[in-house]
Order: sequence, then C-alpha cells, then structure tokens
Amino acid sequence: MKIARIFPTKTNMSPEDSDSYFGGPELFMPAYDEIHISVVFSWDLNTAYWLKRQWDHIAPIKIGGPAINGEGDGFIPGLYLKKGITITSRGCPNNCAWCLITKPLKELEIKPGNNIADNNLLACSRSHIDKVFQMLKNQKRIKFSGGLEAERITDKIAEEIRGLSLRQLWIAYDHPGKFRSVEKAFKILNKYFKRDHLGCYVLIGFGDDTLDKAEGRLQEIVDLGGFPFAMLYRNFKGEFPQPEKPWRKLQKYWLRPAFIRYRIKHKED
Ligand code: SF4
Repeated sequence: MKIARIFPTKTNMSPEDSDSYFGGPELFMPAYDEIHISVVFSWDLNTAYWLKRQWDHIAPIKIGGPAINGEGDGFIPGLYLKKGITITSRGCPNNCAWCLITKPLKELEIKPGNNIADNNLLACSRSHIDKVFQMLKNQKRIKFSGGLEAERITDKIAEEIRGLSLRQLWIAYDHPGKFRSVEKAFKILNKYFKRDHLGCYVLIGFGDDTLDKAEGRLQEIVDLGGFPFAMLYRNFKGEFPQPEKPWRKLQKYWLRPAFIRYRIKHKED
C-alpha cells in the first residue's frame, strides 16, 4: 500500500523521503492508496484540518499522531520520523508542570536506530537500558536527541555511553530548581566527553521566568561545559510567553552557534 505522509510542521526530526509532504498537494502527484496526516503539536490541529481539505481528493485520509491519539504504543522506524531516529519507550514518570508528556512510562520493542528520541530513556528499567545500549553498539554517530534526565546520569551511564560511537548527548535544564542536578550531571559528563558532544536543552519563558533569569541559565550551561540550546516555552494552545518579541529575540541569539562559541571563548579567555 502506498501512503503519503503529511506533516503540518517540519522539524529536524521529520522524514525526508519523497512520500513526505509539508503542505498541500503538488500539481502532479503520484498515486496513493492512503493519506496519513501526522499531528505532533496540539497547536497544529487547525492546520491539520486545513490540510485534510487540501488532500481530500487524492486518496482516503487518516489523521492521527501524538496531538490527537496521544503517543501510540508502537513505533515504526522511518515512517513518521526521519530515518535513523528510534523510540524505545514512550511517556515519562515525572509529570513536570511545563511538559506536554503526561502518559506513564512504557517500554517498547527496541527497533534499531542511531538517534534515540525517547522522552526519558533513563527512567526505564535497567534491563531495557541494557538492551538499548546493546543495540547501539552496532550504530555509528549516535545521538540521544530525546534528552537524558540530568538527575539519572551516573558514572556508570557515562562510561557505558563512552563505549559507544557517540555524536551528541543531550540533557535538559528546564527549570531553575533543576540547577543542582544539571551541575552534578555536567561534573560527571565532563570527565568523559568534550563540550562539542554535550548539548543541553534550556527551557526559557515558562511561569515567572524573566529574560535576565533565562539568559543566566543559558550562560550557566556555557560555564558548566555544555552547549546550550534555547527552547522557548509554548503552552498547550501554542501560545508563547508575552511580550513575545523580546523572548524570540533572546532565543534567536542563543540558537546561533557563532554567538554561543563567542560566549564560550569569552569564558575561556
Ligand atoms: S520535561 Fe522531561 S522529565 Fe519532565 S515530564 Fe517531560 S519528559 Fe519527563
């Protein structure tokens, strides 16, 4: 069965094959048996229903994805995410106030891939983590792009990751209250990895956050030996913190590698 997959938003995890689309149909379309519209973010729902109307005449349409059905129990590599990305567990036990992940943790069958996008791999059972690391021994240029929970990083975990062909490891600094665990995680990780391997998602703009406090947290990651990645908070409706312009400006600066490298150099001089 030939399926076209339609996505309201393109992200760096979206598939790139010729049956993936990010807007309305093109003038000359191949024949498809089904159209699947995959909605990841709740704020994309209106766009998804607009896309449904655009694709209606091509083939029967199904709409699904995390924003509609929640995260499913299965995972098919390369179908709704870029080739190489794999998900070995869904959900998370932590229920952080700023996070849209609300389902309890569930371990899935492990499908090979070199980019682990689990919500919280380290919250899984030890036997599941062992199986994932075993699978990763056959992979190259590995990324943990789903992020590893700082509090669960230990020397044992870092040593196991060092034995793999690592490209990038990400942790998350979502809230000022997490500073101690992020600091502890970097103390461990710095023993095993260089800064270029250590990314940190820094959530900015949630709750009573201010521009100064947010910039302070981004700089803290530079000081701790990581490479910060500013993630601007959006609520369930997709709304950004207000006033939106200065928040976007701050995020834009802290997404520029040259700017971050300048801050790193400034710190090292
Ligand atoms: S922010 Fe991370 S740790 Fe918190 S609930 Fe979401 S996935 Fe879990």
